[in-house]
Amino acid sequence: MKKAILLCACSFACPSMKDLNFAELAERIRLELPHDYMLLHPRLCESNGEAMLADLVKKDGVVYLTAACKPEKQYKLFRDGFQKAGVEMNEHNFKPVWIQFKNTDQAFEEIKKALEELEK
Ligand code: SF4
Repeated sequence: MKKAILLCACSFACPSMKDLNFAELAERIRLELPHDYMLLHPRLCESNGEAMLADLVKKDGVVYLTAACKPEKQYKLFRDGFQKAGVEMNEHNFKPVWIQFKNTDQAFEEIKKALEELEK
């Protein structure tokens, strides 16, 4: 199973992510965590992000780890993108991680933990 990490920066302006340095986070992930590819998007839940999900999401063989707002919110916000890709979102292909109100180190650790959970 491939692991795709999708980082959402919430326009790089959300107060809940003010302590996050996305450039540093992305580079640390690239260098230190096991994954197949990563993508950093400024606003995954807007039409531009949804269009990207519709084009990107594959039916088999990939799990999408999304680092963004609350997981419950992510389920709602990204469902249409998955649906447009013809993929039903489930716990095998979608792993939301909450990185709001965290600094760069804490967000990195949350993503690392989520990747480790995928190995179990
Ligand atoms: S998906 Fe969540 S974190 Fe990303 S832009 Fe939308 S509200 Fe912000």
